[in-house]
Amino acid sequence: MKNQSIKIMGMRDKLIEAEKEIKILREILWLRHGCSNLYGDDGEMQCGSCILDFKRDSAQKIKDRFEEIGRDAIIEHFEKI
Ligand SMILES: [Zn+2]
Repeated sequence: MKNQSIKIMGMRDKLIEAEKEIKILREILWLRHGCSNLYGDDGEMQCGSCILDFKRDSAQKIKDRFEEIGRDAIIEHFEKI
């Protein structure tokens, strides 16, 4: 029973550490993804150009949106040619 409790505490510490790492990585992504239309009051991490919430949106949603923006830019480029 004691060993199981220690194991759970270790897993809890790892989860807390992983959440801290994810928060730092989200902030880096928010600040460095190339846009300047950022909103960050009260701990928010939003981009008005991408229409993304880097604090709450899932990593998959952010990835999908970046891919959508990339596709739109390519289409726009070729429509001008
Ligand atoms: Zn953006």
